[in-house]
Amino acid sequence: MLTDNRRDRPNVSVVSSRQPFLNARLQGFGATIFAEMSALALKTNAVNLGQGFPDKDGPIEVVEAATEAIRNGLGNQYPPGIGVPELRNAIRDHQQRFYGLEFDPDTEILVTAGASEALAASVIALCETGDEVVTFEPWYDIYGANIAMAGATKKVVTLRPPHYAFEESEFLAALSPKTRLILLNTPHNPTGKVFSREELEFIANVAIERDLLVVTDEVYEHLVFEGEHIPIASLPGMRERTITISSGGKTFSFTGWKIGWVCSTPELTSAVRIAKQFLTYVSGGPFQYAIATGLALGDDYYETFLSDMRAKRDYLSAGLRSAGFEIFEPQGTYFVTADARSVGYEDGLELCWQLPEKVGVVAVPNVVFYDNQEEGAHLIRFAFCKSLDVLDEAVNRLQRLS
Ligand code: PMP
Ligand code: GLN
Repeated sequence: MLTDNRRDRPNVSVVSSRQPFLNARLQGFGATIFAEMSALALKTNAVNLGQGFPDKDGPIEVVEAATEAIRNGLGNQYPPGIGVPELRNAIRDHQQRFYGLEFDPDTEILVTAGASEALAASVIALCETGDEVVTFEPWYDIYGANIAMAGATKKVVTLRPPHYAFEESEFLAALSPKTRLILLNTPHNPTGKVFSREELEFIANVAIERDLLVVTDEVYEHLVFEGEHIPIASLPGMRERTITISSGGKTFSFTGWKIGWVCSTPELTSAVRIAKQFLTYVSGGPFQYAIATGLALGDDYYETFLSDMRAKRDYLSAGLRSAGFEIFEPQGTYFVTADARSVGYEDGLELCWQLPEKVGVVAVPNVVFYDNQEEGAHLIRFAFCKSLDVLDEAVNRLQRLS
C-alpha cells in the first residue's frame, strides 16, 4: 500500500486512512478516484480527462421521451420491481438485434439502478462469505468494494500492456475450490481491451469445466473500434451460467440517469432480483421509458456514436504521442492509457497529482485499479469522451510538459 506522504493528496483507495466507524470489510476503501479527480479539476480549473463522462448529452429523441414520460405520469410513481415492460421489451429486442441472444422479458431481464447496482446485486446475491471471485486487474473500482460487501475475496489475473493479454497459467492459478464466479469486463475499463473470441472461449471452457458462474460487465458494448464485441453468453454452454450486465449511461451519453440491466436465466435473474429489491427496490421510472426509446434507435445512431468516438480516440492518442507519451491504443471504451515514464515520471499517481498544477489537465492514476500495485504504478488514464475543442485544449496544455 502506498503511503500518504503529502498533505492535500486525494484520499483515494490507494492512500486512504483508517476510518473509525467503517466496518472491517470496507476498511481500505476511500473516496472513488473519479470523484476525487473531478473535484481536483474543479478546484484547479483544469481540463477534466479523469472521470469518464461525456460533456455533451445524448440524443434529443431520448431527452424528449424522458420529459414526455414525466409530463404524462409514466414512471413518476414506483415502477414494477423488474422494470417497466417497455424497457424490458426494448432490452430483449436489443440483445436479439445485436447478438442473436433470446431473453424472456418477464423472467430473464431485470432493470437496475445502473450497471453499478446490477453488479452489486449480482455479487451479493451469488456469493457466500468466504467465496472467491476471479477478475482481471486493472479492475473497475466498484468490483473490489462489491466483493468485499459480499464477504467474498477478490483474486486477480493481471492484464499487461501493450496488448493486455493474460497468461492462461495465471488465470488457472487464480482458481481454487472456493471460486464461485468469474467477473469479466469487456470492453475493458481502464485498458480499452476488447477480449477476443479465443480468450473468451478459454474463460468459458474453464467456467464450464469447473461449474462456475460468470458475471460480465458490458457497459461499453457499443464502443468497439477494433475487433468485435462478443458477449460471453453467446458462446456454447454459457448462456445458462452467465449474468450479462449493461446500462444506458455510456451508449446514450446519459451517465446521470443510471438505468442498467441484467440478462440471465430465470433462476439467476430471480436471485439477483432478490438482492436488488433490498438495495433500491426500483429507480429512474421515467428514464426507463427514455432508454427504451434509445435502444430502439436505428443503426445510424449507433454507427455515428462509434465513429464520433473513434475520431476522438484518434485525436487524443495523436496528441498524447506528440506530447511525448507512450500510449496503449484502446480497442474499445472511451479511455486511453499512457505510460508516465515516457514523460519522466516513475509514479503515475505523482504525475496525476502534479498535472493539474503544472499544465492544467486531469487524468486518473491506474494504480488504484490494481492489487499488485507495481504492475500499474506507471500507468495513467485519459478519457476522450469530450468535445474535440476540449481535447484540443488538453493536448495544447500537455505540450508544455516537455
Ligand atoms: N462498469 C464499468 C466498467 C464502468 O466503467 C462503469 C462506469 N460507468 C460502470 C460499470 C457503472 O455503470 P453505471 O453508471 O451504469 O452504473
Ligand atoms: N465509469 C466512470 C469512469 O471509469 C466513472 C463512474 C464513476 O464516477 N463512478 O471514469
